[in-house]
Amino acid sequence: MPERMLQFVRLAQATPERRAVAERRRDFNEIYDLFATDAAARQASRCSQCGVPFCQIHCPVQNNIPDWLKLTTEGRLQEAYEVSQATNNFPEICGRICPQDRLCEGNCVIEKGHGSVTIGAVERFITDTAWEQGWVKPRLPRQERGASVGIIGAGPAGLAAAEQLRAEGYRVDVYDRHDRAGGLLIYGIPGFKLEKEVVRRRTALLVAQGVRFHLGAAVGDGLAFSTLRARHDALLIATGVYKARDLGGPGVGLPGIVPALDYLIASNRKGLGDEVTEFDSGVLDARGKRVVVIGGGDTAMDCVRTAVRQGAVSVQCLYRRDRANMPGSMREVKNAEEEGVEFVWLCAPEAFLGEERVRAVRAARMHLGLPDASGRQSVEPIAGSGFTVPADLVIKALGFDPEDLPGAFGEPALEVSRWGTIKVNHRTLMTALPGVFAAGDIVRGASLVVWGIRDGRDAAAAMHAWLSARALPLAAE
Ligand code: FAD
Ligand code: SF4
Ligand code: SF4
Repeated sequence: MPERMLQFVRLAQATPERRAVAERRRDFNEIYDLFATDAAARQASRCSQCGVPFCQIHCPVQNNIPDWLKLTTEGRLQEAYEVSQATNNFPEICGRICPQDRLCEGNCVIEKGHGSVTIGAVERFITDTAWEQGWVKPRLPRQERGASVGIIGAGPAGLAAAEQLRAEGYRVDVYDRHDRAGGLLIYGIPGFKLEKEVVRRRTALLVAQGVRFHLGAAVGDGLAFSTLRARHDALLIATGVYKARDLGGPGVGLPGIVPALDYLIASNRKGLGDEVTEFDSGVLDARGKRVVVIGGGDTAMDCVRTAVRQGAVSVQCLYRRDRANMPGSMREVKNAEEEGVEFVWLCAPEAFLGEERVRAVRAARMHLGLPDASGRQSVEPIAGSGFTVPADLVIKALGFDPEDLPGAFGEPALEVSRWGTIKVNHRTLMTALPGVFAAGDIVRGASLVVWGIRDGRDAAAAMHAWLSARALPLAAE
């Protein structure tokens, strides 16, 4: 085992082994193995212990990366875990699914020339080891407080806030319309990126901490928002964004054209052992079909790789920009290509063909124009470039917008931006409604799990400050 850092000049970058393509195409298990202890220590020792660590600056939760890398190198794993969990509620989840190439690893100073430190894989190794060794314990409060907090939404933002607030001694009730906690960690992101047990053991830890979950509780539909405001001293809205952006064009309403999240939820539910009528009837099952996925983000990547595992005959991904300009993680594109997905860059659908159901997509070639005000290149169709792609199942993965929350909650005073995201005061993180805070995608727009965690932590701190200022008495012991 190495004892010294700065080994990047001698040691090459290595990632954990990936399972063989033929094997991983057949199941929904994660594709990366866990580092062996020696390999993790060696890879951690490549870090040059920068005085100004750009990895940490570009990590949304500001993880103290150089410190836990050094502790891992020295074999002091329990201490590495303590440092790592101090800034991140779910480090093993971020280690698995953060787009590290755009965050910590993409900003590691040794990236150019030597290949970055494999930060995400080491982070996962530290916390998976902590779980194995029994070091992960519920964060019980030292003292109970007399105030109660309600959290709407059990995704990463809501769960991170719940853990922080419960550790402070608040009574915490989490409401979610789904029958399992986890939000998109359970029903969006497939098991080959994040096995469901990794999420389940986290929610079980929160239950052991004293957080109370109310599942199958849809706020605004059976459970009134006003009831929760009356029940709790403060509320957090962490409901995510779920209104799928749609496509236009002739034939778009044909059977066989489905929204990405319906497709992924059905697949995830099936994997969890639920009965899913639309899957069993074949509507949301890609088996034996020629599948075309439209979009270039994380959701599209998850759809193409799910279709491969369901036994699709062929899987193509149509994206209107090129590889360099796609929003999805490059690592996932590479994994998808290896698994047999064909990417058709610079093309967009114009029409959907078929009589009873979709049989093909007519698409046009695009070219990238000049950058717009945001710096992103515009895309324009090339006249006369139309071509046809056969398809039995078309999955629309074009991104998500917020639902009309003030309408759904019957609270017109809840202010939203022109995009429909909830407006919060950026200092207090409170919405226009006193005592009501908001966090995660519903504030930021569709984003990342690690930003959800960061927002949940920040909101919890703001709620604690607000509740403390109201000087509620501490509960009797
Ligand atoms: P969510 O995770 O959406 O959770 C919101 C919760 O609120 C849900 O459980 C929902 O049921 C509940 N809810 C909503 N409305 C109500 C209501 N009225 N009453 C009660 N409950 C309600 N990010 C990454 O970092 N890496 C990835 O690889 C990645 N892959 C992704 C793949 C897919 C398919 C998708 C869709 C997203 C992906 N993301 C990824 C993004 C990431 O999942 C989100 O940014 C993150 O989950 C947002 O967290 P959140 O807590 O704000 O919302
Ligand atoms: Fe990198 Fe994400 Fe971990 Fe931060 S939380 S160190 S960005 S993998
Ligand atoms: Fe280590 Fe890279 Fe972070 Fe520098 S930027 S501290 S080398 S991980």
